[in-house]
Amino acid sequence: MNHFHHNASLPVILTVAGFDPSGGAGTAADLKTFASHNCYGVAAITALTTQNTQGVSAVEPVKSTMLRDCLETLLADGQIRAVKVGMLATRSNAEVVCEFLDSNAALPAVLDPVLRSSSGMELLDAAGFEFLRDHLLERALVVTPNTEEAAALTSLKVENVESMKAAARKLVEMGARAVVVKGGHLEKPVDVYFDGTELETFSADRVKTDNFHGTGCTFSSAIAANLALGRHLHDSVMLAKAYVTEAIRKAYPTGPGRLPLNHLFRMQQGARSADLSPAVAEPVH
Ligand code: PLP
Repeated sequence: MNHFHHNASLPVILTVAGFDPSGGAGTAADLKTFASHNCYGVAAITALTTQNTQGVSAVEPVKSTMLRDCLETLLADGQIRAVKVGMLATRSNAEVVCEFLDSNAALPAVLDPVLRSSSGMELLDAAGFEFLRDHLLERALVVTPNTEEAAALTSLKVENVESMKAAARKLVEMGARAVVVKGGHLEKPVDVYFDGTELETFSADRVKTDNFHGTGCTFSSAIAANLALGRHLHDSVMLAKAYVTEAIRKAYPTGPGRLPLNHLFRMQQGARSADLSPAVAEPVH
Protein backbone atom coordinates (compact mmCIF):
# COMPACT_ATOMS: atom_id res chain seq x y z
CA MET A 1 0.00 0.00 0.00
CA ASN A 2 1.42 3.33 -1.05
CA HIS A 3 0.94 6.02 1.59
CA PHE A 4 2.14 8.91 -0.57
CA HIS A 5 -0.41 11.45 -1.62
CA HIS A 6 -0.74 11.45 -5.42
CA ASN A 7 -0.66 14.85 -7.06
CA ALA A 8 -2.01 15.31 -10.57
CA SER A 9 0.84 14.06 -12.72
CA LEU A 10 2.84 16.10 -15.19
CA PRO A 11 3.65 14.69 -18.63
CA VAL A 12 7.00 12.88 -18.79
CA ILE A 13 9.25 13.81 -21.73
CA LEU A 14 12.42 12.04 -22.80
CA THR A 15 15.46 13.79 -24.20
CA VAL A 16 18.09 11.74 -26.04
CA ALA A 17 21.07 14.07 -26.35
CA GLY A 18 24.57 14.95 -25.19
CA PHE A 19 25.59 16.26 -21.78
CA ASP A 20 26.91 19.83 -21.65
CA PRO A 21 28.49 20.35 -18.21
CA SER A 22 28.19 24.13 -18.59
CA GLY A 23 24.40 23.72 -18.62
CA GLY A 24 23.61 25.78 -21.71
CA ALA A 25 22.95 23.07 -24.30
CA GLY A 26 22.11 19.36 -24.56
CA THR A 27 20.25 17.43 -21.86
CA ALA A 28 20.73 20.13 -19.21
CA ALA A 29 19.02 22.73 -21.39
CA ASP A 30 16.32 20.22 -22.33
CA LEU A 31 15.48 19.27 -18.73
CA LYS A 32 15.23 22.93 -17.70
CA THR A 33 13.04 23.65 -20.71
CA PHE A 34 10.72 20.76 -19.84
CA ALA A 35 10.52 21.94 -16.22
CA SER A 36 9.72 25.44 -17.37
CA HIS A 37 6.73 24.01 -19.30
CA ASN A 38 5.44 22.10 -16.28
CA CYS A 39 6.64 18.80 -17.66
CA TYR A 40 8.83 16.16 -16.01
CA GLY A 41 12.02 15.44 -17.97
CA VAL A 42 14.07 12.26 -18.19
CA ALA A 43 17.30 11.97 -20.15
CA ALA A 44 19.25 9.31 -22.06
CA ILE A 45 22.77 10.62 -22.63
CA THR A 46 24.45 9.89 -25.97
CA ALA A 47 27.80 11.54 -25.21
CA LEU A 48 29.69 13.40 -22.56
CA THR A 49 31.30 16.64 -23.65
CA THR A 50 33.73 19.04 -22.04
CA GLN A 51 32.80 22.63 -22.70
CA ASN A 52 32.23 26.03 -21.19
CA THR A 53 30.79 29.26 -22.52
CA GLN A 54 33.82 29.52 -24.83
CA GLY A 55 33.22 26.31 -26.79
CA VAL A 56 33.31 22.51 -26.87
CA SER A 57 36.77 21.01 -26.22
CA ALA A 58 36.08 17.25 -26.24
CA VAL A 59 33.39 14.67 -26.97
CA GLU A 60 33.22 11.16 -25.48
CA PRO A 61 30.38 9.10 -27.00
CA VAL A 62 28.43 6.78 -24.71
CA LYS A 63 28.48 3.11 -25.81
CA SER A 64 25.41 2.24 -27.86
CA THR A 65 24.70 -0.80 -25.62
CA MET A 66 24.51 1.57 -22.64
CA LEU A 67 22.24 3.96 -24.56
CA ARG A 68 19.93 1.07 -25.52
CA ASP A 69 19.79 -0.11 -21.88
CA CYS A 70 19.03 3.40 -20.71
CA LEU A 71 16.19 3.86 -23.21
CA GLU A 72 14.67 0.48 -22.36
CA THR A 73 14.92 1.16 -18.63
CA LEU A 74 13.23 4.57 -18.92
CA LEU A 75 10.57 3.20 -21.23
CA ALA A 76 9.72 0.39 -18.80
CA ASP A 77 8.17 2.98 -16.47
CA GLY A 78 5.50 3.49 -19.10
CA GLN A 79 4.93 7.24 -18.82
CA ILE A 80 6.82 8.94 -21.65
CA ARG A 81 4.59 11.25 -23.73
CA ALA A 82 7.06 12.82 -26.18
CA VAL A 83 10.71 12.55 -27.15
CA LYS A 84 13.32 15.05 -28.27
CA VAL A 85 16.36 13.74 -30.14
CA GLY A 86 19.46 15.96 -30.22
CA MET A 87 23.19 15.27 -30.48
CA LEU A 88 23.82 11.57 -31.26
CA ALA A 89 27.64 11.51 -31.63
CA THR A 90 27.90 8.20 -33.53
CA ARG A 91 26.15 6.12 -36.13
CA SER A 92 25.69 3.26 -33.67
CA ASN A 93 23.85 5.60 -31.28
CA ALA A 94 21.72 6.87 -34.19
CA GLU A 95 20.83 3.22 -34.97
CA VAL A 96 19.74 2.61 -31.37
CA VAL A 97 17.51 5.70 -31.52
CA CYS A 98 16.04 4.45 -34.80
CA GLU A 99 15.10 1.09 -33.19
CA PHE A 100 13.61 2.99 -30.26
CA LEU A 101 11.48 5.22 -32.52
CA ASP A 102 10.34 2.19 -34.51
CA SER A 103 9.15 0.34 -31.45
CA ASN A 104 7.40 3.50 -30.14
CA ALA A 105 5.94 4.85 -33.36
CA ALA A 106 3.00 6.58 -31.61
CA LEU A 107 5.34 8.75 -29.54
CA PRO A 108 5.71 12.27 -31.01
CA ALA A 109 9.42 12.81 -31.74
CA VAL A 110 11.19 16.11 -32.40
CA LEU A 111 14.49 15.65 -34.22
CA ASP A 112 17.17 18.33 -33.95
CA PRO A 113 19.69 17.09 -36.55
CA VAL A 114 22.77 18.32 -34.68
CA LEU A 115 25.89 18.21 -36.83
CA ARG A 116 28.45 20.45 -35.11
CA SER A 117 28.64 23.06 -32.36
CA SER A 118 28.76 26.76 -33.19
CA SER A 119 32.39 26.59 -32.04
CA GLY A 120 33.05 24.05 -34.84
CA MET A 121 33.30 20.72 -32.95
CA GLU A 122 31.79 17.70 -34.77
CA LEU A 123 28.89 16.36 -32.70
CA LEU A 124 27.87 13.54 -35.06
CA ASP A 125 30.21 11.46 -37.23
CA ALA A 126 29.74 11.44 -41.03
CA ALA A 127 28.25 7.93 -41.12
CA GLY A 128 25.86 8.93 -38.34
CA PHE A 129 24.73 11.98 -40.27
CA GLU A 130 24.01 9.85 -43.37
CA PHE A 131 22.06 7.42 -41.21
CA LEU A 132 20.09 10.27 -39.65
CA ARG A 133 19.24 11.61 -43.13
CA ASP A 134 18.27 8.20 -44.53
CA HIS A 135 16.45 6.72 -41.52
CA LEU A 136 15.68 9.14 -38.69
CA LEU A 137 14.26 12.01 -40.74
CA GLU A 138 11.14 10.04 -41.69
CA ARG A 139 10.58 8.75 -38.15
CA ALA A 140 10.22 12.17 -36.52
CA LEU A 141 7.07 14.25 -36.32
CA VAL A 142 9.16 17.34 -37.01
CA VAL A 143 12.81 18.06 -37.80
CA THR A 144 14.45 21.39 -36.91
CA PRO A 145 17.68 22.00 -38.89
CA ASN A 146 19.55 25.30 -38.98
CA THR A 147 20.67 26.49 -42.41
CA GLU A 148 23.97 24.58 -42.29
CA GLU A 149 22.23 21.33 -41.29
CA ALA A 150 19.50 21.85 -43.91
CA ALA A 151 22.23 22.29 -46.54
CA ALA A 152 24.08 19.16 -45.40
CA LEU A 153 20.87 17.10 -45.42
CA THR A 154 19.60 18.27 -48.82
CA SER A 155 22.87 19.06 -50.67
CA LEU A 156 21.30 22.44 -51.55
CA LYS A 157 22.87 25.82 -50.85
CA VAL A 158 20.83 27.32 -48.03
CA GLU A 159 21.62 30.96 -47.48
CA ASN A 160 18.43 33.02 -47.84
CA VAL A 161 14.69 32.69 -47.37
CA GLU A 162 14.05 31.32 -50.87
CA SER A 163 16.65 28.57 -50.49
CA MET A 164 15.35 27.79 -46.97
CA LYS A 165 11.89 27.21 -48.51
CA ALA A 166 13.42 24.98 -51.21
CA ALA A 167 15.28 23.00 -48.53
CA ALA A 168 12.11 22.61 -46.45
CA ARG A 169 10.26 21.27 -49.49
CA LYS A 170 13.11 18.89 -50.34
CA LEU A 171 13.26 17.58 -46.74
CA VAL A 172 9.55 16.72 -46.94
CA GLU A 173 10.17 14.97 -50.29
CA MET A 174 12.97 13.05 -48.55
CA GLY A 175 10.47 11.75 -45.99
CA ALA A 176 10.28 14.37 -43.21
CA ARG A 177 6.71 14.84 -41.99
CA ALA A 178 7.27 18.49 -41.04
CA VAL A 179 10.25 20.82 -40.97
CA VAL A 180 11.33 24.07 -39.35
CA VAL A 181 14.42 25.52 -41.05
CA LYS A 182 15.92 27.97 -38.57
CA GLY A 183 17.48 31.05 -40.10
CA GLY A 184 18.68 32.67 -36.89
CA HIS A 185 22.19 33.13 -38.26
CA LEU A 186 21.10 34.91 -41.46
CA GLU A 187 21.43 38.63 -42.02
CA LYS A 188 17.63 38.90 -41.88
CA PRO A 189 16.63 36.18 -39.42
CA VAL A 190 13.60 34.23 -40.63
CA ASP A 191 12.35 30.70 -39.86
CA VAL A 192 10.51 28.55 -42.41
CA TYR A 193 7.82 26.06 -41.34
CA PHE A 194 6.53 23.43 -43.77
CA ASP A 195 4.31 20.46 -42.96
CA GLY A 196 3.70 19.20 -46.49
CA THR A 197 0.75 21.53 -47.11
CA GLU A 198 1.22 24.75 -45.23
CA LEU A 199 4.42 26.73 -45.82
CA GLU A 200 4.88 29.63 -43.44
CA THR A 201 7.66 32.11 -42.96
CA PHE A 202 7.97 33.88 -39.66
CA SER A 203 10.48 36.42 -38.52
CA ALA A 204 12.94 35.16 -35.98
CA ASP A 205 14.52 36.98 -33.05
CA ARG A 206 15.61 40.49 -33.68
CA VAL A 207 18.39 39.75 -31.20
CA LYS A 208 21.50 38.52 -33.01
CA THR A 209 21.51 34.85 -32.07
CA ASP A 210 25.17 34.18 -32.90
CA ASN A 211 26.16 35.07 -29.38
CA PHE A 212 23.91 32.52 -27.73
CA HIS A 213 24.57 28.93 -26.81
CA GLY A 214 22.04 26.08 -26.90
CA THR A 215 19.32 27.92 -28.82
CA GLY A 216 18.60 24.94 -31.10
CA CYS A 217 18.49 22.45 -28.20
CA THR A 218 16.08 24.70 -26.32
CA PHE A 219 13.81 25.29 -29.31
CA SER A 220 13.41 21.57 -30.10
CA SER A 221 12.77 20.63 -26.46
CA ALA A 222 10.18 23.42 -26.12
CA ILE A 223 8.37 21.98 -29.17
CA ALA A 224 8.44 18.52 -27.53
CA ALA A 225 7.05 19.98 -24.29
CA ASN A 226 4.15 21.67 -26.06
CA LEU A 227 3.39 18.44 -27.95
CA ALA A 228 3.42 16.49 -24.67
CA LEU A 229 0.91 19.00 -23.31
CA GLY A 230 -1.42 18.03 -26.16
CA ARG A 231 -0.94 21.00 -28.48
CA HIS A 232 -0.90 20.72 -32.27
CA LEU A 233 2.42 20.88 -34.08
CA HIS A 234 1.98 24.33 -35.60
CA ASP A 235 0.97 25.87 -32.25
CA SER A 236 3.80 23.99 -30.52
CA VAL A 237 6.34 25.51 -32.93
CA MET A 238 4.96 29.05 -32.48
CA LEU A 239 4.91 28.73 -28.68
CA ALA A 240 8.43 27.27 -28.66
CA LYS A 241 9.62 30.23 -30.73
CA ALA A 242 8.08 32.69 -28.27
CA TYR A 243 9.65 30.82 -25.33
CA VAL A 244 13.13 30.85 -26.90
CA THR A 245 12.83 34.55 -27.72
CA GLU A 246 11.97 35.36 -24.11
CA ALA A 247 14.71 33.06 -22.74
CA ILE A 248 17.17 34.95 -24.98
CA ARG A 249 15.88 38.32 -23.80
CA LYS A 250 16.33 37.26 -20.17
CA ALA A 251 19.77 35.65 -20.64
CA TYR A 252 22.66 36.59 -18.37
CA PRO A 253 26.38 35.72 -18.66
CA THR A 254 27.74 32.65 -16.82
CA GLY A 255 31.22 33.05 -18.32
CA PRO A 256 33.21 35.19 -20.76
CA GLY A 257 31.99 33.36 -23.90
CA ARG A 258 28.54 32.90 -25.40
CA LEU A 259 25.42 33.39 -23.30
CA PRO A 260 23.30 30.41 -22.30
CA LEU A 261 19.56 31.06 -22.51
CA ASN A 262 17.69 31.74 -19.31
CA HIS A 263 15.53 28.60 -19.46
CA LEU A 264 13.93 29.21 -16.08
CA PHE A 265 12.98 32.87 -16.57
CA ARG A 266 9.36 32.04 -15.68
CA MET A 267 10.47 31.04 -12.15
CA GLN A 268 12.29 34.33 -11.75
CA GLN A 269 9.43 36.60 -12.73
CA GLY A 270 8.88 39.11 -9.99
CA ALA A 271 12.30 38.44 -8.45
CA ARG A 272 14.29 41.59 -7.72
CA SER A 273 17.32 42.06 -9.97
CA ALA A 274 19.58 41.85 -6.91
CA ASP A 275 18.29 38.31 -6.33
CA LEU A 276 19.52 37.38 -9.79
CA SER A 277 23.01 38.84 -9.60
CA PRO A 278 25.80 36.56 -8.41
CA ALA A 279 26.08 36.40 -4.64
CA VAL A 280 29.19 38.08 -3.25
CA ALA A 281 30.27 35.87 -0.39
CA GLU A 282 31.58 37.57 2.75
CA PRO A 283 35.04 36.26 3.59
CA VAL A 284 34.96 33.87 6.53
CA HIS A 285 37.50 34.70 9.27
N1 PLP B 1 26.79 20.55 -26.64
C1 PLP B 1 25.78 19.72 -26.81
C2 PLP B 1 25.66 18.54 -25.91
C3 PLP B 1 24.83 19.97 -27.82
O1 PLP B 1 23.79 19.15 -27.99
C4 PLP B 1 24.97 21.11 -28.67
C5 PLP B 1 24.03 21.44 -29.72
O2 PLP B 1 23.16 20.73 -30.08
C6 PLP B 1 26.06 21.95 -28.44
C7 PLP B 1 26.93 21.63 -27.43
C8 PLP B 1 26.31 23.17 -29.25
O3 PLP B 1 25.41 24.15 -29.00
P1 PLP B 1 25.67 25.57 -29.64
O4 PLP B 1 26.02 25.34 -31.05
O5 PLP B 1 24.37 26.29 -29.49
O6 PLP B 1 26.76 26.19 -28.85
